[in-house]
Amino acid sequence: MSVQTSVERDVVVVGGGPAGSSAAAIAARGGAGVLLLERERFPRFHIGESLLPESNRLLRELGVAERICDAGFVVKRGASFWSEDGERESYIDFSLSREVREPRTYQVPRDRFDQILLDNARDAGAEVREGCRAERFELENGRIWVEHTDESGAMSRTGARVLIDASGQRGLVARALGLRRKDPQLRSVAVHSQFEGVEQLDGERAGDIRIVSLSDLSWVWLIPLSPGVTSVGVVVPREHVARREALVGDLLEGTLAGVPSVARLFEGSKRIAPVHREADFSYAPTHYAGDRWLLAGDAGSFLDPVFSTGVLLALESGCDAGRAALRGLERNELSAAAFRDFDSAQKARYRFFRRMVAAFYDPAFRDVMFRPSNRAGILGAMVSTLAGNSRPGWMTRCRINLLFWIVALHRRLGFSERIHSTPAIGDVVS
Ligand SMILES: Cc1cc2nc3c(=O)[nH]c(=O)nc-3n(C[C@H](O)[C@H](O)[C@H](O)COP(=O)(O)OP(=O)(O)OC[C@H]3O[C@@H](n4cnc5c(N)ncnc54)[C@H](O)[C@@H]3O)c2cc1C
Repeated sequence: MSVQTSVERDVVVVGGGPAGSSAAAIAARGGAGVLLLERERFPRFHIGESLLPESNRLLRELGVAERICDAGFVVKRGASFWSEDGERESYIDFSLSREVREPRTYQVPRDRFDQILLDNARDAGAEVREGCRAERFELENGRIWVEHTDESGAMSRTGARVLIDASGQRGLVARALGLRRKDPQLRSVAVHSQFEGVEQLDGERAGDIRIVSLSDLSWVWLIPLSPGVTSVGVVVPREHVARREALVGDLLEGTLAGVPSVARLFEGSKRIAPVHREADFSYAPTHYAGDRWLLAGDAGSFLDPVFSTGVLLALESGCDAGRAALRGLERNELSAAAFRDFDSAQKARYRFFRRMVAAFYDPAFRDVMFRPSNRAGILGAMVSTLAGNSRPGWMTRCRINLLFWIVALHRRLGFSERIHSTPAIGDVVS
């Protein structure tokens, strides 16, 4: 097969999700010649609909805040966490922390949200090629060469001074270079779909995400995408999947039907989309940058979605990657060493949120969460973190440390064991 070589670019971005379109927009607006390759045609379905308030800052920087605001997405003001029996609620009201400057965000059907971001990259001057899949890359003569195929099967090769890999979980660079490490502590399976007619909250809180925490450490999400449509998912720690499936049959609808407090919300509802399943979705790379390449969004790392951090991390790392590429191009320093700050920033952000996410799979943490108290400002500190602030002030950091100290004490005193010896969902169903 003949391979055509196309014009060289300053930056080639692989992937047109939130990470890739952010990186492309920043780099193109800074004057770089950018080619973005996206294997699908937009709009396309993608999971990951619940945003965090900290995204507002990035959407403004990208110049899309107004377009997102005018798009009519459901407004989200907080997150409510429920116990399995529906008796206890912990409400994360984003307006409770002074560190959260704009305490509202959105629930976004990703086909429309990602389209806005991709159009924004085009408007910024990036050339966007949809239906164009990056196949492989190699470093040769001081350039990164990316081989890509279009929908007719024709193959081309484009040289770039910098490659930004934003190919999502596919992880073009991380997989090829063997950089990806699965997180042994966060190995879950998620099944999800969309339903019509699920009972939603009323009033100010109608747009909030609801998380129902099940006693075997699984959880259910309900995200209102419009007044009629709800995105619903069940996340199950891998070690419980076989047992759960044996008991409830279908992991999604069987689980929803087996938890009375959840089943009540689904009376008269119907599923309106296919069921998707994803497994083992927490990982991080050994490093986020190398000679002439940078990893952004899920192409670098991914965290269990319980606190809806994915799109925020994609936007933030995408913007960082765009800026790092511009700086490198300007100084003609594009080695791994030149990208060290980028690498450290991504690692620090990932570590910060991972600590909180891993804690959610600790029964002691869930118990503390269901006794919300703002003594010593702990609730405010949690709100700041769960709004997506990965660089909180030192008081918030101290309060978060205090929270973890209380959780450790809780565990030591065995409170959580007592609570978690209540029947698990499978026992209820059987
Ligand atoms: C079950 C589940 C629930 C989630 N819930 C939430 C949530 O509520 N809130 C939240 O913020 N996040 C959530 N996430 C995370 C969120 O989906 C991701 O973190 C986010 O989409 C990452 O954006 P990205 O741009 O890095 O990757 P993606 O959005 O995956 O975009 C990558 C793009 O690259 C393209 N691509 C892939 N390979 C190639 C190739 N070889 N050539 C060209 N193009 C390519 C793909 O087509 C895709 O469009 C959830 C994730 C899962 C698994």
